[in-house]
Amino acid sequence: IRKIGVLTSGGDAPGMNAAIRAVVRTALHNDLEVYGIFNGYLGLYENNIRKLDRQDVSDRINRGGTFLGSARFPEFKEESVRRQAIKNLEQHGIDALVVIGGDGSYMGAKCLTEMGYPCIGLPGTIDNDVPGTEYTIGYNTALNCVLDAIDRLRDTSSSHRRISLVEIMGRHCGDLTLAAAVAGGAEYAIIPEKPFSEESLLRALDKGDSKGKKHAIICITEKITDTHELARRIEAHTGQETRATVLGHIQRGGAPGAFDRVLASQMGAFSVALLMEGEGGRCVGIQNNRLVHHDIIEAIEKMPRPFNQDLFDTFKKLV
Ligand code: ATP
Repeated sequence: IRKIGVLTSGGDAPGMNAAIRAVVRTALHNDLEVYGIFNGYLGLYENNIRKLDRQDVSDRINRGGTFLGSARFPEFKEESVRRQAIKNLEQHGIDALVVIGGDGSYMGAKCLTEMGYPCIGLPGTIDNDVPGTEYTIGYNTALNCVLDAIDRLRDTSSSHRRISLVEIMGRHCGDLTLAAAVAGGAEYAIIPEKPFSEESLLRALDKGDSKGKKHAIICITEKITDTHELARRIEAHTGQETRATVLGHIQRGGAPGAFDRVLASQMGAFSVALLMEGEGGRCVGIQNNRLVHHDIIEAIEKMPRPFNQDLFDTFKKLV
């Protein structure tokens, strides 16, 4: 291969810039040309493609978001749209593509690979919900952001004997919520992997009251229930002031932490090495502290992300 493309897709995550930088610098180090595709699969379809040099990724490693931009572009599920995308890549002479994004973006990469266009997927999302890896780029930074918010809520909650309900991102994955609950010393965690019983939550709060707890922090993953409504019901049951805080996109912004910068740099460099070895249709991960790669289709279809039951059990003993 002589020319590779790189794009970011789906929700942005801190560390995506570090991954792009690693792809660009590793490619240039190996005398390959690199092209940036702007705004994910939409830019691929619209031919929003530009050659990148080493200065294009200067001063980026410490920035959140993605300077290539990202987009949701459901039309990419249509074969005719993907055919146009491949035509654009061929026009630039691009031989292979690195796609940085979540499992939806992996589906796009899988489709392109099946149409004869080699892609490597890198896991970039704060949700930590991508198969074939223990950690995604952006997760650790988001976790520290959530933790900072919980620490702040704890200060004010304990001063006012208040109950704080904190809604955390993750879509269908409770990793961010559970880890933040453990690290933040929360009283209760409501996550998608475990059935939610409002009754047992209220019972736990009653128990906490009798233990003499001054406040309670409850972490809940988004999309499980209406968090503001739940706060109102908790207040009605306990008679204690209860506030819901929906952290929202705050969790996605900010400078990537050291862990995500290192992970992104390693994964970006590894993706170029794989393409140079002639690999395509692979996704990169980190497992047992080693970089690994899996067939992207097998990963999506057959590798459910394991739930950390041990951490959940530990959490329950610590409240
Ligand atoms: P996040 O986890 O942060 O939301 P994601 O990559 O899962 O990231 P999606 O919106 O699901 O985010 O997917 C990103 C893009 O990938 C979509 O907008 C679409 O362009 C493409 N895509 C998703 N599913 C498919 C599919 N089945 N076939 C082809 N392309 C797809």
